[in-house]
Amino acid sequence: MLKQADHRYERRPRMERIGFIGLGVMGKPMARNLMKAGYPLVVYNRSRPPMEELAAEGAETANSPREVAERSTVVITMLPDTPDVEQVLAGPDGVFAGGRPGLIVIDMSTIDPVTARRLAAQAAARGITMLDAPVSGGEIGAIQGTLSIMVGGDAAAFERCLPIFQAMGRNIVHMGGPGAGQVTKAANQVVVALTIAAVSEALALAAKAGVDPAKVRAALLGGFASSRVLEVHGQRILERNFRPGFRIRLHHKDLRIALGLGRAVGASLPLTALIHEWLGALVARGQGELDHSALVTLFEEWAQTEVRPS
Ligand code: NAD
Repeated sequence: MLKQADHRYERRPRMERIGFIGLGVMGKPMARNLMKAGYPLVVYNRSRPPMEELAAEGAETANSPREVAERSTVVITMLPDTPDVEQVLAGPDGVFAGGRPGLIVIDMSTIDPVTARRLAAQAAARGITMLDAPVSGGEIGAIQGTLSIMVGGDAAAFERCLPIFQAMGRNIVHMGGPGAGQVTKAANQVVVALTIAAVSEALALAAKAGVDPAKVRAALLGGFASSRVLEVHGQRILERNFRPGFRIRLHHKDLRIALGLGRAVGASLPLTALIHEWLGALVARGQGELDHSALVTLFEEWAQTEVRPS
């Protein structure tokens, strides 16, 4: 939980100069919220259009992650997968190459906790402090600034960055040392995947049995089976709205991370393994860019039904 401030770092809420790398579904609105909170921002993304969009709103742009680090006191990354973060941070033109001692790097992507720990150690060898701070709450949470943020790493750096986190999220928790944020996020992704599968299976059952799945969703929302997934993704499923949102290929990646962690620590994850394979099948079908609620299409195929309001 929140710790007492450590006065090695003075609190300078508006004086941090923030670099932001990775302006996709999540990164762009998160960066925007930092600008709204008054932080000067330097941005970099692999493709130019989102950089130009934020530049028109007042951000500066940079030509490489290294340049972002040279011009910032705090660098945030919001990238797809573990190798992307490794390349952007530790690559030849990366953040570590450009960062001065005292720089804080906050990786808010969902990546492998073991790599997060290794990167934190590499950063520390250069006098750079790294926090892993993955998020939950989706695109809506990113836009509204209501993300849950699970943070691992140095407690004093966490305190220094708290005003930055508060510009992007609401439920902000310091989980422990390096990697603890990513372990928490892996647990989160297991719960979300299993819940989407449960909601999909139940709605396909109702549809096949001839009861309006929209009414089933509404009835279940009032009882013990209620959940955010039933509410938000149940509605998406009924509307056939599979525009991401959270892409199937990213959730497939997150379950791979959870399974790797399970293997590393000796925890068996049989349900996660099953859903990992199902998401993999959807990726193989060319549906990896759809929202993860499209998992329902497998249940529809197996039951030969369609989950639509009747
Ligand atoms: P995304 O694919 O929409 O965006 C990623 C961005 O990173 C893109 O703009 C891409 O151009 C950029 N990028 C990729 N490689 C790069 C590189 N080497 N250098 C610079 N830029 C690069 O992904 P997203 O949905 O924003 O997700 C980002 C992270 O957040 C992922 O780890 C994801 O698992 C996690 N996450 C996503 C959601 C969600 O609902 N979308 C929710 C919670 C967490």
